[in-house]
Amino acid sequence: MLYFEKSQPAPDCLAIEKQKSNGDYKCGCVLERLKTDFKNKCYICESKAPSTINVEHFKSHQGDKNLKFDWNNLFWSCGHCNNTKLAKFDDILNCTNLNDSIENKLNYDFKPFPREKVNITINSNDDKTLQTQTLLLAVFNGTTTLKEIESDNIRSALLKEIKDLQEWLIEYFTDTNDEQEKDRCLRKIKQHLNRSSAFTSFKRQIIKDNGELFKEFSHYFD
Ligand SMILES: [Zn+2]
Repeated sequence: MLYFEKSQPAPDCLAIEKQKSNGDYKCGCVLERLKTDFKNKCYICESKAPSTINVEHFKSHQGDKNLKFDWNNLFWSCGHCNNTKLAKFDDILNCTNLNDSIENKLNYDFKPFPREKVNITINSNDDKTLQTQTLLLAVFNGTTTLKEIESDNIRSALLKEIKDLQEWLIEYFTDTNDEQEKDRCLRKIKQHLNRSSAFTSFKRQIIKDNGELFKEFSHYFD
Protein backbone atom coordinates (compact mmCIF):
# COMPACT_ATOMS: atom_id res chain seq x y z
CA MET A 1 0.00 0.00 0.00
CA LEU A 2 1.20 3.48 -0.88
CA TYR A 3 0.41 6.98 0.21
CA PHE A 4 -2.13 8.78 -1.99
CA GLU A 5 -3.02 12.42 -1.53
CA LYS A 6 -6.76 12.93 -1.44
CA SER A 7 -7.64 16.09 -3.39
CA GLN A 8 -9.55 18.73 -1.43
CA PRO A 9 -12.18 20.05 -1.00
CA ALA A 10 -14.77 17.31 -1.47
CA PRO A 11 -16.69 17.27 -4.77
CA ASP A 12 -19.73 19.57 -4.49
CA CYS A 13 -22.16 16.87 -5.57
CA LEU A 14 -21.46 14.81 -2.45
CA ALA A 15 -23.14 17.36 -0.14
CA ILE A 16 -26.09 17.57 -2.56
CA GLU A 17 -26.47 13.77 -2.66
CA LYS A 18 -26.29 13.64 1.14
CA GLN A 19 -29.40 15.83 1.42
CA LYS A 20 -31.49 13.48 -0.74
CA SER A 21 -33.43 10.62 0.79
CA ASN A 22 -31.97 8.20 -1.78
CA GLY A 23 -28.68 10.05 -2.44
CA ASP A 24 -25.79 8.21 -4.06
CA TYR A 25 -22.20 8.71 -2.83
CA LYS A 26 -21.02 7.10 -6.10
CA CYS A 27 -22.07 10.06 -8.23
CA GLY A 28 -20.06 10.83 -11.37
CA CYS A 29 -17.79 13.55 -10.02
CA VAL A 30 -16.89 11.43 -6.98
CA LEU A 31 -15.90 8.53 -9.24
CA GLU A 32 -13.73 10.73 -11.46
CA ARG A 33 -11.95 12.34 -8.50
CA LEU A 34 -11.33 9.02 -6.75
CA LYS A 35 -10.04 7.46 -9.94
CA THR A 36 -7.56 10.32 -10.35
CA ASP A 37 -6.53 10.56 -6.69
CA PHE A 38 -5.85 6.82 -6.43
CA LYS A 39 -4.21 6.68 -9.90
CA ASN A 40 -6.89 4.15 -10.87
CA LYS A 41 -5.32 1.56 -8.57
CA CYS A 42 -6.96 -0.50 -5.87
CA TYR A 43 -5.47 1.09 -2.74
CA ILE A 44 -5.18 -2.31 -1.02
CA CYS A 45 -3.77 -4.80 -3.56
CA GLU A 46 -2.42 -2.13 -5.98
CA SER A 47 -3.99 -3.75 -9.04
CA LYS A 48 -3.96 -1.16 -11.83
CA ALA A 49 -7.23 -0.36 -13.62
CA PRO A 50 -9.16 -3.14 -11.85
CA SER A 51 -12.04 -4.64 -13.84
CA THR A 52 -14.33 -4.51 -10.81
CA ILE A 53 -14.31 -1.21 -8.95
CA ASN A 54 -15.92 -0.48 -5.61
CA VAL A 55 -16.13 2.86 -3.87
CA GLU A 56 -15.18 1.67 -0.46
CA HIS A 57 -15.95 3.19 2.92
CA PHE A 58 -12.65 3.14 4.77
CA LYS A 59 -14.59 3.01 8.01
CA SER A 60 -17.77 1.06 7.37
CA HIS A 61 -20.72 3.46 7.66
CA GLN A 62 -23.27 0.98 9.04
CA GLY A 63 -26.08 3.43 8.28
CA ASP A 64 -24.26 6.51 9.57
CA LYS A 65 -25.01 9.15 6.91
CA ASN A 66 -22.03 11.33 7.88
CA LEU A 67 -19.60 8.46 7.34
CA LYS A 68 -21.44 7.34 4.23
CA PHE A 69 -21.02 10.72 2.48
CA ASP A 70 -17.70 11.74 4.04
CA TRP A 71 -15.26 12.44 1.19
CA ASN A 72 -12.29 11.46 3.38
CA ASN A 73 -13.91 8.09 4.02
CA LEU A 74 -14.30 7.14 0.35
CA PHE A 75 -11.58 4.97 -1.22
CA TRP A 76 -10.98 3.26 -4.59
CA SER A 77 -10.74 -0.52 -4.33
CA CYS A 78 -11.26 -3.64 -6.40
CA GLY A 79 -14.17 -5.97 -5.66
CA HIS A 80 -11.90 -8.68 -4.27
CA CYS A 81 -10.30 -6.37 -1.71
CA ASN A 82 -13.55 -4.68 -0.73
CA ASN A 83 -15.17 -8.08 -0.17
CA THR A 84 -12.22 -9.25 1.88
CA LYS A 85 -12.11 -6.11 4.02
CA LEU A 86 -15.85 -5.58 4.66
CA ALA A 87 -16.36 -4.32 8.22
CA LYS A 88 -13.78 -6.73 9.63
CA PHE A 89 -10.82 -4.42 9.13
CA ASP A 90 -12.04 -1.04 10.30
CA ASP A 91 -8.82 0.08 11.92
CA ILE A 92 -6.07 -0.34 9.34
CA LEU A 93 -3.37 2.16 8.37
CA ASN A 94 -4.81 5.01 6.33
CA CYS A 95 -2.95 5.39 3.03
CA THR A 96 -4.26 8.96 2.61
CA ASN A 97 -2.84 10.09 5.96
CA LEU A 98 0.86 10.96 5.82
CA ASN A 99 1.13 10.52 9.60
CA ASP A 100 0.38 6.82 9.25
CA SER A 101 3.71 6.40 7.35
CA ILE A 102 2.28 3.49 5.46
CA GLU A 103 5.31 3.16 3.21
CA ASN A 104 7.68 2.49 6.11
CA LYS A 105 5.67 -0.04 8.07
CA LEU A 106 5.16 -2.99 5.73
CA ASN A 107 7.55 -5.27 3.83
CA TYR A 108 6.41 -7.17 0.74
CA ASP A 109 7.88 -10.58 0.09
CA PHE A 110 7.03 -12.43 -3.12
CA LYS A 111 9.25 -14.80 -5.07
CA PRO A 112 8.39 -14.22 -8.73
CA PHE A 113 7.54 -17.81 -9.62
CA PRO A 114 4.24 -19.62 -10.23
CA ARG A 115 2.40 -21.02 -7.19
CA GLU A 116 4.30 -18.73 -4.79
CA LYS A 117 2.36 -16.99 -2.01
CA VAL A 118 2.85 -13.46 -0.69
CA ASN A 119 4.33 -12.78 2.70
CA ILE A 120 4.00 -9.46 4.51
CA THR A 121 6.18 -8.55 7.46
CA ILE A 122 5.93 -5.41 9.58
CA ASN A 123 8.33 -2.90 11.11
CA SER A 124 5.97 -1.73 13.82
CA ASN A 125 3.80 -3.69 16.25
CA ASP A 126 0.90 -1.30 16.71
CA ASP A 127 -2.67 -2.55 16.20
CA LYS A 128 -3.24 -0.68 12.93
CA THR A 129 -0.12 -2.13 11.33
CA LEU A 130 -1.01 -5.64 12.55
CA GLN A 131 -4.54 -5.32 11.12
CA THR A 132 -3.14 -4.05 7.83
CA GLN A 133 -0.73 -6.99 7.66
CA THR A 134 -3.57 -9.46 8.28
CA LEU A 135 -5.72 -7.80 5.60
CA LEU A 136 -2.93 -7.83 3.01
CA LEU A 137 -2.16 -11.51 3.67
CA ALA A 138 -5.87 -12.30 3.22
CA VAL A 139 -6.08 -10.24 0.02
CA PHE A 140 -3.00 -11.72 -1.66
CA ASN A 141 -3.41 -15.34 -0.54
CA GLY A 142 -7.19 -15.73 -0.22
CA THR A 143 -9.51 -16.76 2.58
CA THR A 144 -12.28 -18.82 0.96
CA THR A 145 -12.00 -21.19 -2.03
CA LEU A 146 -13.41 -18.51 -4.36
CA LYS A 147 -11.17 -15.79 -2.96
CA GLU A 148 -8.13 -18.08 -3.25
CA ILE A 149 -8.80 -18.22 -7.00
CA GLU A 150 -9.14 -14.43 -7.16
CA SER A 151 -5.90 -14.07 -5.17
CA ASP A 152 -4.21 -16.49 -7.58
CA ASN A 153 -5.26 -14.20 -10.44
CA ILE A 154 -3.87 -11.15 -8.64
CA ARG A 155 -0.57 -12.96 -8.01
CA SER A 156 -0.38 -13.97 -11.68
CA ALA A 157 -0.66 -10.29 -12.66
CA LEU A 158 1.92 -9.45 -9.97
CA LEU A 159 4.28 -12.09 -11.32
CA LYS A 160 4.12 -10.60 -14.83
CA GLU A 161 4.81 -7.09 -13.54
CA ILE A 162 7.83 -8.23 -11.49
CA LYS A 163 9.15 -10.21 -14.45
CA ASP A 164 8.89 -7.16 -16.68
CA LEU A 165 10.75 -4.98 -14.16
CA GLN A 166 13.38 -7.70 -13.81
CA GLU A 167 13.93 -7.81 -17.59
CA TRP A 168 14.40 -4.02 -17.79
CA LEU A 169 16.84 -4.12 -14.87
CA ILE A 170 18.87 -6.89 -16.52
CA GLU A 171 18.90 -4.95 -19.78
CA TYR A 172 19.91 -1.73 -17.99
CA PHE A 173 23.00 -3.38 -16.53
CA THR A 174 24.06 -5.12 -19.76
CA ASP A 175 27.57 -3.85 -20.55
CA THR A 176 27.12 -3.82 -24.31
CA ASN A 177 24.25 -1.32 -24.23
CA ASP A 178 24.88 2.18 -25.51
CA GLU A 179 23.60 5.31 -23.74
CA GLN A 180 20.44 5.46 -25.83
CA GLU A 181 19.51 1.89 -24.95
CA LYS A 182 20.29 2.49 -21.29
CA ASP A 183 18.03 5.56 -21.29
CA ARG A 184 15.21 3.52 -22.77
CA CYS A 185 15.59 0.95 -19.97
CA LEU A 186 15.72 3.69 -17.35
CA ARG A 187 12.45 5.18 -18.61
CA LYS A 188 10.75 1.79 -18.19
CA ILE A 189 12.26 1.24 -14.73
CA LYS A 190 11.07 4.71 -13.65
CA GLN A 191 7.54 3.88 -14.83
CA HIS A 192 7.60 0.69 -12.76
CA LEU A 193 8.74 2.53 -9.63
CA ASN A 194 6.25 5.37 -9.98
CA ARG A 195 3.36 5.13 -7.50
CA SER A 196 0.87 5.00 -10.36
CA SER A 197 2.22 1.64 -11.58
CA ALA A 198 0.72 -1.73 -10.67
CA PHE A 199 2.01 -3.37 -7.46
CA THR A 200 4.53 -0.57 -6.84
CA SER A 201 5.14 -1.63 -3.22
CA PHE A 202 6.49 -5.01 -4.34
CA LYS A 203 8.74 -3.42 -6.97
CA ARG A 204 10.12 -0.85 -4.56
CA GLN A 205 10.78 -3.59 -2.01
CA ILE A 206 13.08 -5.34 -4.51
CA ILE A 207 15.01 -2.08 -4.94
CA LYS A 208 15.09 -1.37 -1.18
CA ASP A 209 16.47 -4.83 -0.41
CA ASN A 210 19.48 -4.43 -2.70
CA GLY A 211 22.04 -1.78 -1.73
CA GLU A 212 23.27 -1.17 -5.25
CA LEU A 213 19.82 -1.00 -6.82
CA PHE A 214 18.72 1.28 -4.01
CA LYS A 215 21.58 3.69 -4.71
CA GLU A 216 20.80 3.69 -8.43
CA PHE A 217 17.00 3.93 -8.41
CA SER A 218 15.57 4.98 -5.02
CA HIS A 219 15.38 8.64 -6.09
CA TYR A 220 12.70 7.56 -8.58
CA PHE A 221 10.35 6.69 -5.69
CA ASP A 222 8.20 9.78 -6.04
ZN1 LIG B 1 -7.57 -4.92 -4.69
